[in-house]
Amino acid sequence: MTVTTPDEHVPPTDIADLAAAVRGPVLTPTDAAYAEELAGFNVANQPRPDVVVGATCADDVVAAVRHARATGLRVGARATGHGPVLEGDRHLTVTTSRMTDITIDPVAKTARVGAGVRWRDVVAATAPHGLTGLVGSSSSVGVVGYLLGGGLSPLGRQYGFAADHVLRIEVVTADGVLRTVDASAGSDLFWALLGGRDGCGIVTAIEFGLLDLATVYGGGIFFAGASAAQVLHAWRRWAPTLPVEAGTSVAVLRLPPDPQLPPPLQGQIAVHVRFTFTGDPAIGAQILAPMRAAGPILLENVDVMPVAALDAVHMDPPGPMPSIERGVTVSALPPDAVDALLAVAGPHVASPLAIVEIRLLGGRLRAPQGVPNSVPGRGGSYAVLAIAVPAGPLAAEAAPHVAAVNDAVAPWTDGALLNFVGRVPAVELPALWSADDRDRLAEIRRRHDPAGIFARSV
Ligand SMILES: Cc1cc2nc3c(=O)[nH]c(=O)nc-3n(C[C@H](O)[C@H](O)[C@H](O)COP(=O)(O)OP(=O)(O)OC[C@H]3O[C@@H](n4cnc5c(N)ncnc54)[C@H](O)[C@@H]3O)c2cc1C
Repeated sequence: MTVTTPDEHVPPTDIADLAAAVRGPVLTPTDAAYAEELAGFNVANQPRPDVVVGATCADDVVAAVRHARATGLRVGARATGHGPVLEGDRHLTVTTSRMTDITIDPVAKTARVGAGVRWRDVVAATAPHGLTGLVGSSSSVGVVGYLLGGGLSPLGRQYGFAADHVLRIEVVTADGVLRTVDASAGSDLFWALLGGRDGCGIVTAIEFGLLDLATVYGGGIFFAGASAAQVLHAWRRWAPTLPVEAGTSVAVLRLPPDPQLPPPLQGQIAVHVRFTFTGDPAIGAQILAPMRAAGPILLENVDVMPVAALDAVHMDPPGPMPSIERGVTVSALPPDAVDALLAVAGPHVASPLAIVEIRLLGGRLRAPQGVPNSVPGRGGSYAVLAIAVPAGPLAAEAAPHVAAVNDAVAPWTDGALLNFVGRVPAVELPALWSADDRDRLAEIRRRHDPAGIFARSV
């Protein structure tokens, strides 16, 4: 572990001192810029910290953590607002959106990015070198939050979780010191941050390995909602036969009447089969053939595409939007599980569920690929995620419909992925990890943050 900040100066204990110590803005709820500073993707998850520090650099994060420690505030970070918010009261939130440095080393095939970088900036910077990182379904997500939560990419069955490629983390720990932790040194802090996410520090930058991959054969096939049963059952039979070079998910979508969407999808219920294949496109087409025949196709965009265009596979909503979500992993997807999902989310149900998706897991997601980390949910065979929009006439139904999806697959549920678990109470989070990992995470957090200044996000 490298320590790069001497613990010398007096911590700023009032807001004016803090503002003088940092280069970025320091805001409280009465400031006009406060709400905008905290704006994010999920407008239903609006945090209300006592203090916001708009960090521009690691030194700003150091000052913020020292201020929190000295004043008894709990502290956490926010980059894009795609994820959860800090639990409880009396918070200082460090916003990282100004920390956007990106350094690509095309020879070593690594990227070092600041805490505020989004995936879209990484893929734009790596694509000219024929390289990529393991971006998820939406490149508007922040790199650090995604990696600390594991990072499930459409390419994950072949390459593992994105966290499995992290090499180095720069983090401000509870003592207000900037440290660099890396995989090779066997650091317990590195292990706990990568997969445990919260409770150990505020990450200021992260370095990870890149893959030689410029194009994939991929995209999505949209079927009408009326075909949901036949398509979901066809996918259930087909998905487990795929080689690890192939990734897939299927979703029942309730799409808004948005003129930005292609006309056959506007305001419709549709079933969306997503597919990626990193091998020969002709073989990819053969592999996908049974799904192309699963029902009448409304629209499809499966073709050879640059990895930088991977967003076109899931076509996630661009946001901002309000959403309530909850996700689990299941050990199997027998016919009864698909029928149970259709009963609560099928096209005949009036529902605020915008997306109910099933992602195929397995392959190299099952074990860390040489990078020790605490990513939970590796044993699951599928990830089931429900996302509802708490707006419009069915707003009050959003949470119960999300819960109904979880209940439908409860007999097969064996865990959850941290990035998809949704807003569960912090006391329920430890159940995501095995007993051994749970104990180890708790011990590391106690040792590195004995006063518990780092808040959990839920
Ligand atoms: C449209 C959409 C698509 C998604 N697709 C995928 C996907 O394909 N695969 C996947 O794995 N996940 C996916 N996610 C989930 C996403 O990875 C998590 O929500 C992740 O936490 C988002 O990180 P963020 O920084 O963008 O969000 P934020 O809300 O800004 O941060 C989320 C949390 O990350 C932690 N965090 C962020 N920055 C720091 C930091 N500097 N130091 C310490 N902790 C920090 C904090 O706990 C924070 O509360 C998706 C989410 C959305 C909304």
